[in-house]
Amino acid sequence: MSKRAVTVIGLGPMGQAMVAAFLDQGHPVTVWNRTASKADALVARGATRAATVAEALAANELVVLSLTDYDAMYAILEPAADALAGRVLVNLSSDTPERARAGAAWAAEHGAQYLTGGVQVPPPLIGTPESSTFYSGPRAVFEAHQDTLRVLTGTDYRGEDPGLAALYYQLTMDLFWTTMTAFLHTVTVAAAHGISATDLAPYTTNVMTGMPYFIDFYSKRIAAGEHPGDVDKLAMGVASIEHVVHTSEAAGIDPSLPAAVAALFRQGVAAGHADDSFTSLVEVLRKPAA
Ligand code: NDP
Repeated sequence: MSKRAVTVIGLGPMGQAMVAAFLDQGHPVTVWNRTASKADALVARGATRAATVAEALAANELVVLSLTDYDAMYAILEPAADALAGRVLVNLSSDTPERARAGAAWAAEHGAQYLTGGVQVPPPLIGTPESSTFYSGPRAVFEAHQDTLRVLTGTDYRGEDPGLAALYYQLTMDLFWTTMTAFLHTVTVAAAHGISATDLAPYTTNVMTGMPYFIDFYSKRIAAGEHPGDVDKLAMGVASIEHVVHTSEAAGIDPSLPAAVAALFRQGVAAGHADDSFTSLVEVLRKPAA
């Protein structure tokens, strides 16, 4: 059976990896990118270069977008909006849930079907089985194109609301960026003491591989709205994170990240949670100071 043809618009590192994955699996691919030269290597591998956006849209029913954000989508597609009718847009560009919903409504106004996606892996993992992408939008549209989309990554369909894939993506990014920045702070303090990031790697890895235990333990309690101080108390947390702040300051390293955590912990104590678990901070987070 011949493989479904697909158009890919947007050839940053991610779009390029996606085109390569489609080509590797024998899918005919038409490409368009604002900076046309980024298509050169892919054309050499067999992709077809569209001269215009309208030509790229006309080439195939299935159109994958891999752009910086939704502003880029509008910048590219608005001038060619007449060519959108009958297309299936799969927007794998990240943005907020609200913008994803607005994008789906905009596409529908122009007669296009629309799926939102949030890719959870970096470009080198595109085309590998362990990778995954959140999708949302009409189930029938997702199911009609799931096999083709599986060429890129595993698929995790989150529901009909087009905002859901963006929401799940942003939730994972919330955790990812704050965690990875904490990692950067840790290795910078270590470096100030002559310990390299690679020397510390067994220990940073150890903290991370211990996380599933904590996520499981605390998720159940958070979901139940229970924050007993039987295992940890927020007052202990304040003392602990202040030691981290002081260790950072003593090493001459910017302490603003642990200091922000310390400030939040102190807010929790001030709100009466000293003897509760640190998870009681969800109550503080729900009521941000005006
Ligand atoms: P880039 O920002 O490097 O690529 C952006 C693409 O958007 C390029 O094709 C660029 O065109 C185009 N673009 C940006 N602004 C405009 C504009 N105003 N008009 C026309 N084209 C525009 O992103 P990536 O390839 O790294 O990622 C693509 C998407 O995938 C992003 O939403 C990102 O968040 C998401 N993602 C990326 C991951 C990664 O590790 N890279 C991991 C998971 C998700 P030009 O080449 O002309 O500049």
